[in-house]
Amino acid sequence: RAKQQGASYIEFYTDEMTDKAFERLELESYLRRAIEKDELTLYYQPQVNLDEQKIYACEALIRWNHPKLGLVSPAEFIPLAEETGLIEEIGIWVLNEACIQTRKWQELGYNDLSISVNVSGRQFQSANFVETVRRALTTSGLSAESLHLEVTESTTLVNTDYSISMLNELRGMGIKVSIDDFGTGYSSLSYLKDFPLDILKIDQSFIRNLQENNADAAIVKAVITMCEGLNLSIVAEGIETKEQGEIIRSFGCNFAQGFFYSKPLNRDRFEKLLLSKQFPLAT
Ligand code: C2E
Ligand code: MG
Ligand code: MG
Ligand code: MG
Repeated sequence: RAKQQGASYIEFYTDEMTDKAFERLELESYLRRAIEKDELTLYYQPQVNLDEQKIYACEALIRWNHPKLGLVSPAEFIPLAEETGLIEEIGIWVLNEACIQTRKWQELGYNDLSISVNVSGRQFQSANFVETVRRALTTSGLSAESLHLEVTESTTLVNTDYSISMLNELRGMGIKVSIDDFGTGYSSLSYLKDFPLDILKIDQSFIRNLQENNADAAIVKAVITMCEGLNLSIVAEGIETKEQGEIIRSFGCNFAQGFFYSKPLNRDRFEKLLLSKQFPLAT
């Protein structure tokens, strides 16, 4: 009886595995065609200067609109794109699209707008990454100073010497380098000392319970103070309430991003928000 149960369990288990493997294969083949079929799109989430009460930048966040599957989250397909190598093609598309769109908004009168683009590990480590970035800037006419590249610790902690020289090369062009999701990776302090960076984005997991949790508040406060000493700008991610915005501001952080200010918006809605200049800000 026990044996029987075991057998049926295995059967069930392998069926499930096959389904998963099949699903993954299907997703992969869909993803291969997503670019040609124009199914990828960028959303834009404002990054806010709290002192000046304005949008100074936005983060480009990819979305995949599949006719059958619906809207697929990047959390679901970026890892797959990494594994299969499709990330290189997708990354090129994202960089070009983001730079072209931002240049258009600058020409519409929003001259100071910068764009922040996420770069994944395999993309960053690929041999032609700098060339891809250079080409996106040339084609779009966007100045390097308007481009921020978001990397994570795990992206740059492989081939560290090479990674550091890459970051130096990008910064030499005038591009700003952000460390994304700070606090969730290794977060060793020597990382901040050894890696050439411009901006630190403190992860939303530290913001979520900022009001109730003394430990989170202490960490956020300390990171902000440390960034001042290291000459790093700091952006608080995941601000969802007025209170959270007020707290990080009282700690000396002037740059913020989160649903409280705005969710990521499609191109048209972001443009409306930019041009309305009626940005609802916390004060
Ligand atoms: P991320 O770079 O840390 O982006 C921030 C994520 O937090 C976004 O999720 C955004 O929608 C979400 N978010 C923003 N404000 C809030 C808030 O107040 N509360 C909460 N709960 N969430 C907030 P999204 O768009 O689903 O992207 C997830 C991740 O996928 C990104 O995390 C990034 O790692 C990756 N990703 C997105 N677009 C790209 C891309 O073009 N290239 C690469 N390589 N990765 C991307
Ligand atoms: Mg990011
Ligand atoms: Mg982040
Ligand atoms: Mg993240």
